[in-house]
Amino acid sequence: MVSPPGSSPEETGWGGFAVRVLIGEIGCSPFFSEEESPPPHAVMAAGTIPVSSLISFFTKAQKETPQALRIILGPISDEIVRELSPNGPNVGLVDGWLDWPLDENRFRLALSLVRPFPKGRIGSRGQTPGIAANSASLRVIRQLRQEMESMRESLNHCSLTGLLNRRGIEEKLGLDWQACEGLGLEFALLMIDVDYFKAVNDQYLHPAGDQVLVELGKHLSLQLRGGDSLGRMGGEEFWILAPNTDTKGARFLAQRLCESVSKKPFAIGEMLISITISVGVSVLQPDLQVDSSQLYHQAALALRCAKQNGRNCIKVHD
Ligand code: GH3
Ligand code: MG
Ligand code: MG
Repeated sequence: MVSPPGSSPEETGWGGFAVRVLIGEIGCSPFFSEEESPPPHAVMAAGTIPVSSLISFFTKAQKETPQALRIILGPISDEIVRELSPNGPNVGLVDGWLDWPLDENRFRLALSLVRPFPKGRIGSRGQTPGIAANSASLRVIRQLRQEMESMRESLNHCSLTGLLNRRGIEEKLGLDWQACEGLGLEFALLMIDVDYFKAVNDQYLHPAGDQVLVELGKHLSLQLRGGDSLGRMGGEEFWILAPNTDTKGARFLAQRLCESVSKKPFAIGEMLISITISVGVSVLQPDLQVDSSQLYHQAALALRCAKQNGRNCIKVHD
């Protein structure tokens, strides 16, 4: 987490960026005179601080660390907008503002989204105060954006299998569902759970179990169509999103996956490890009456049914 509101300035390193955060009452004299390296990339102050203090703080920051982005953490008052927006009397003093509170990820995202306004742009009341940033600030924004993109990659992917993780697959589900809804296309969700995986770990040990999950991921992805997505939801549970797939198609796919896994022992080191999977399938015709959460409730029910029916089988929700 970015440090919560307090009374003293803090410096935090995010992936090599020194980001100073100053929140609360401002007593900034020792703040900038300290010898710090590397210099800060962004200097922030809370929008709850009196405007006159903000102005003196950012004036000092501008003088002492001109390369740093100067950012106000929201909420921002009308007075701030009046004083610090591009058509206000303190033009150029602040680069932008960010919502508060922020966790580290949102903070990075938000930092990368700080956009300088063109110089001299007339802002209206209530508009984000933002000023043309100098080229050093723009460089920092670009670097942060690149970092943020690679971070988003790692945030959305499972480090073991390289597949989309829960977060990634849920994000994708939202997008795919929306697209299908717009086009009136059916959408299928396949929930896959490895049968008796605990026994696999017990028999072959956990590292071999891990490799089984990796191989299973590869095996499943080889059998999908271009528009389908595969993710590991956690543990030994995988999801497949199949946009534009009707019940017949989804049943066929689930059956094929189930059979092919049961027939394919995975070679892990010297061992051949056989597993089976159970699959719960849900297919929905997108319309305004349903939302995507129904997809996973139905798929989860179907998966539970498949387990109760003896495992190594599929169940399509009616
Ligand atoms: P069921 O057929 O009912 O699904 O039985 P199960 O044993 O697969 O289910 P259970 O939920 O009892 O156990 C899941 C097991 O999956 C237990 C846990 O150790 C194992 N597991 C979860 N995540 C991982 C992982 O990342 N690596 C390995 N090797 N095992 C994992
Ligand atoms: Mg499970
Ligand atoms: Mg299981």
